[in-house]
Amino acid sequence: MAIKDEYDLTGIAFNIWLKPLKYLKCENNVVSILVPGGNPEMLNYVKINYTNFFQEAISQALQSSFTVEFTLEEDNNDKTDDAVNRSDDENNESNTASSLNPKYHFENFVVGSNNKLAHSVCLKVAETPGTELNPLFIHGGSGLGKTHLMTAIGHYITEHTNLKVLFVTSETFLNEVIESIRNNANASSMSRLREKYRNIDVLLIDDIQFLIGRGSSSQVEFFNTFNTLVQNGKQIVITSDKHPKHIKELDERMRTRFLNGMIVDIAPPAYETRVAILRKYAENFDYKVPDNIVDYIANHIRSDVRELEGAYKKVCAFGEIEGDMTLEKAKDMLKEIISPDNPSVVTSSLILKAISEYYNIDEDDITSKKRNAEIVLPRQIFMYLCREMTDTTLQGVAALLDKKDHSTVLHGYNKISKEININTELKESIEAIKNIIKTY
Ligand code: ADP
Ligand code: MG
Repeated sequence: MAIKDEYDLTGIAFNIWLKPLKYLKCENNVVSILVPGGNPEMLNYVKINYTNFFQEAISQALQSSFTVEFTLEEDNNDKTDDAVNRSDDENNESNTASSLNPKYHFENFVVGSNNKLAHSVCLKVAETPGTELNPLFIHGGSGLGKTHLMTAIGHYITEHTNLKVLFVTSETFLNEVIESIRNNANASSMSRLREKYRNIDVLLIDDIQFLIGRGSSSQVEFFNTFNTLVQNGKQIVITSDKHPKHIKELDERMRTRFLNGMIVDIAPPAYETRVAILRKYAENFDYKVPDNIVDYIANHIRSDVRELEGAYKKVCAFGEIEGDMTLEKAKDMLKEIISPDNPSVVTSSLILKAISEYYNIDEDDITSKKRNAEIVLPRQIFMYLCREMTDTTLQGVAALLDKKDHSTVLHGYNKISKEININTELKESIEAIKNIIKTY
């Protein structure tokens, strides 16, 4: 009763939440309380809202410090902490601390010039979700830390607030929509799905590119969910491999929405940042890879942090077994990942193919004489990359573009060379295209 008086709880809250609770035991200054009714949501609610109340009231009354533990009455035979947490997670899919990768936090994210802005924007969103930076759209090439940063936002919010965070890959979202459409005989399955998504405070959607262009019903469903959440001031964070302007099949209304929010990119890390990332990563292992090998890895793997870490891990695993590691051994071990400086021969047709894939435009359009804005930039990038990555002469590139004279090629090349230093979006697009070429 002390609690009711002390905290001035209304009669209703008291009757619903507190009255049914049963005292179980007190051991080592831990008071265990049972929540009857077998309802994990109720358990969760009571935990979130009343743990502090109980702790303070009991500690005050008994003049000693106590912690309070709630357990479902039905689970009480085995009430280790683990069992309590497990039942929580299983029964509360939308509370997602469990679906967030436990490895990705702000603390172990290395900040460099390539991701500085993205990092500070993500931190701001984590501190003040649902305010001005909404929706937040993070884009960049594969393995550059998009999922890491987005997950870090989720962890930060779950650790500091009671807001409900939901992390989904767009694959999961898509499958859920398809599943509910399949169950259409049962119309409530779609509404359950809607409920699930609309009852959250923060929605993190990873790799939205997989959602786009996979059937309009999932895009429409996403659009509706998205609008409801944004209108209600809920935070949305999205990652993608491309800037919204370059996602060809994206619904125009969605594109506008994204463009009106906050868009940040992550570019490939510079050498110093790659070394710093490896040093941070090394903290996870007992064996320390010698500096000259770290240097070799950082020097040769330039645009994918996942690969960078993979190479380190491989060397580390061998080092742990063998005891010592030489650069020669490491080179041999990594020869499949790091091919001697210029790997497969890059040709103009591979460049063309990659640009067409990246911008979603036909190869023929790139080499045509069309002058529309969406084609001119990719064509200039083609000129630039042909000069940078192949031995084709200016005349040769001009011929590929069916031009008699090579001055346009020179102009295109010069323009991109200059702009790449001041335009991060362009720089990143070019890195992404180079990455696509690497996969051929
Ligand atoms: P993406 O989602 O952009 O493809 P991830 O977020 O999955 O990339 O990152 C790939 C791997 O690289 C992860 O293990 C991640 O922790 C690591 N990583 C990427 N960027 C950084 C960084 N700046 N600092 C520390 N680790 C990073
Ligand atoms: Mg990812």
